[in-house]
Amino acid sequence: MLTDTIAAIATAVGESGIGIIRVSGEQAIAVVDKVFSAKRAIRLRECATHTLHLGYIIDPVSGEKVDEVLVSLMRRPKSFTGEDVVEINCHGGLVPLRKTLELLLKAGARMAEPGEFTKRAFLNGRIDLAQAESVIDIIRAKTDASLNVALGQLEGRLSERIRDVRRMIVELLAFIEANIDFPEEDIEEISRGEILARVETIRTAIADLLISAEQGRVYREGLRVVIVGRPNVGKSSLLNALLKEKRAIVTDIPGTTRDVLEEILNIRGIPVRIIDTAGIRETGDPIERIGVEKAQEYLNLADLVLLVLDAGEKLSAEDRRIIEMAQKKPTIVLINKTDLVEQRLNEQEVEELVIGAKILRISAKEELGLNELDEKIVEIVTGGSIKRESPLVSNIRHKIALEEAQANLADVVDACVAGVSLDCLAIDIREAWERLGEITGETVTEDIIDQIFSQFCIGK
Ligand code: GDP
Repeated sequence: MLTDTIAAIATAVGESGIGIIRVSGEQAIAVVDKVFSAKRAIRLRECATHTLHLGYIIDPVSGEKVDEVLVSLMRRPKSFTGEDVVEINCHGGLVPLRKTLELLLKAGARMAEPGEFTKRAFLNGRIDLAQAESVIDIIRAKTDASLNVALGQLEGRLSERIRDVRRMIVELLAFIEANIDFPEEDIEEISRGEILARVETIRTAIADLLISAEQGRVYREGLRVVIVGRPNVGKSSLLNALLKEKRAIVTDIPGTTRDVLEEILNIRGIPVRIIDTAGIRETGDPIERIGVEKAQEYLNLADLVLLVLDAGEKLSAEDRRIIEMAQKKPTIVLINKTDLVEQRLNEQEVEELVIGAKILRISAKEELGLNELDEKIVEIVTGGSIKRESPLVSNIRHKIALEEAQANLADVVDACVAGVSLDCLAIDIREAWERLGEITGETVTEDIIDQIFSQFCIGK
């Protein structure tokens, strides 16, 4: 039911300066009026929208004061949810927040489900689905660059592009409709050429969006990096050297299973998740300690492998085995301990073994070569060219929808060339239109909507 009034604590639980309770729905103002006593002796229901009111939360039964609060009033439709919204700024302790929430629930509000405020904003047409999803991304952004991508999506940059493409598809459908009624040979010939040209334009627009998707995913989820190497080559020294300057401040991400330990670094705006293979920082060698199979699993998880070799030692059988294991993944080979006077590693031999991989000379101990490592990582993520505009597509759900639409349109091209009837072509074209609508939520099923909002936290 969309008309009932919901309430929840919207800020993180714990001691803090303020804590906010959000109330939204038809009765939001009336519900808060039952427990709020303003210093100016007014009722919220008489107040104008977008106003602030100082007063007390008072238990209407016992008359007891619960907290001194600042209440903001936002009448529909100009509110986050598009409904009447009241936000109560309590003192940020668990007791005032809980007690205030309890009173609101007794006064007629119901506890909000996870993501329900944002879901209402979507259902009431305040924001589309892609914008709603960006709200989680903003909350979880790990670096400035990740935040930029998410903010762009909230502003509707992606939605706008999707709408443009869908408009082109609708125009194409209209063109086909018009031609179905004129099946004469020569007109048909001309119209097929026109259809193909239009489909190509649409496919190019979708391809443009897909190009940035991989980069976008990295900004949203982080680049998964695994450090491998035999014992004592300096893996933990490297991780520590990187962490010293680049550790990103992030808290645990709710809803993600974390069966592996990881550290998140901020490398020139790119969130880099270093998967700590069973605690490489403790000592010991991941390959030996966790077994080859497990090591392979970690390698499979990786977007990028940092393979560490010791400049002070000859290449061993174990080094070779690890090089071979990493072969299938983009790899940067780090020749470590280049500060040592005695260099026994034959670098020529390494070059021959790791064809295609980038090789860098570093010293984890002296912190040499780490800037070059940053540069290489940025190069790998951005494909060498740092675009000023941040990527539009970052969400895997959006990427899949784009790919499906692209596949439908590829079918249209084949069918059109093969002379399939125009009304059959229209079916695939309409399919592509629907897939794209899933991104903005215009043609999305309730299941998908529920699944998306269930990832949110309560109060959002
Ligand atoms: P891991 O087993 O691969 O994690 O290797 P560690 O990071 O524990 O390093 C093994 C040993 O090599 C330690 O004694 C480090 O101090 C030393 N080490 C690591 N990196 C360097 C380096 O760049 N130069 C020198 N000279 N020693 C290093």
